[in-house]
Amino acid sequence: MHFCIRDDDTSFFTSPEELEQVYGEVSRLGPISLAVVPFQRAGTSQGVPERFRGRWSVHPLHDNQPLVDYLRAGISMGRFEIMLHGYHHDEPHGRPEFESGQHLAQRVADGRTYLEELLGTTIRVFVPPRNTIGRHGLRAVALAGLHLGGTAGVRCGWSPLSRQTWSLWRRLRRWRKGGGLGVPWVLDLGDHREIAGNPVTPVAVIEYNEAVFESALAMGGVFCAATHYWEHGVPSLHADAPTVGEQLRRLIDCAVSDPRVVWRSVGEVVSQTTFIA
Ligand SMILES: [Zn+2]
Repeated sequence: MHFCIRDDDTSFFTSPEELEQVYGEVSRLGPISLAVVPFQRAGTSQGVPERFRGRWSVHPLHDNQPLVDYLRAGISMGRFEIMLHGYHHDEPHGRPEFESGQHLAQRVADGRTYLEELLGTTIRVFVPPRNTIGRHGLRAVALAGLHLGGTAGVRCGWSPLSRQTWSLWRRLRRWRKGGGLGVPWVLDLGDHREIAGNPVTPVAVIEYNEAVFESALAMGGVFCAATHYWEHGVPSLHADAPTVGEQLRRLIDCAVSDPRVVWRSVGEVVSQTTFIA
């Protein structure tokens, strides 16, 4: 099985110390794929510090030089992969940026080039802010030759005219009706691929995530844990359940203790796996 970790919301507002505290040790075991916001707008996201929320000012990543240096070093050591996480992430109109916004192809192209040049890396994956994308957003991602972190589905951008859409739709429906857990495949939509994230958050149920992990492992599929560094200390909403960070650690322990698990970056898994639907 291929295992990967996706962490969303690194931006101007992130400090190297925060990332180091959460991933300093574990990123020596395997790579962490960071979904980075190139020009974070200080809106309502929890990744934006409270005192900045609602100002709607724009903060380019390069204004945080210690973070840029830290990311560049981490990339060169193979500890971090960089993915594109929107352009501004937050918009005053309140809707998810890539659900129905304007100039999305330009935003993908510009955001990608900016991060690639600033951090000296290659980007292969786009993660939509708030896990929400629409038809135009998905077209912009495919046009740029990127893959999607997350799954769009028929209602959020898969082409209704494509045969691949409906064969995938039927396959996933069969899988769920048969009691299948998660999405153990990388999905091939023809012009791009998609990899589902398994949320590791305060509302997540760790036993469910472990069951999805085991199911993917038995099939030799893929498992992508999706989390936020700013949430690792937050307790679970379920009584007596582990914090977000402890939940992720349990999944990592499962991954590193099983020789059948290969831990790679999200970009490597989505582009290299042979477990494709
Ligand atoms: Zn986000």
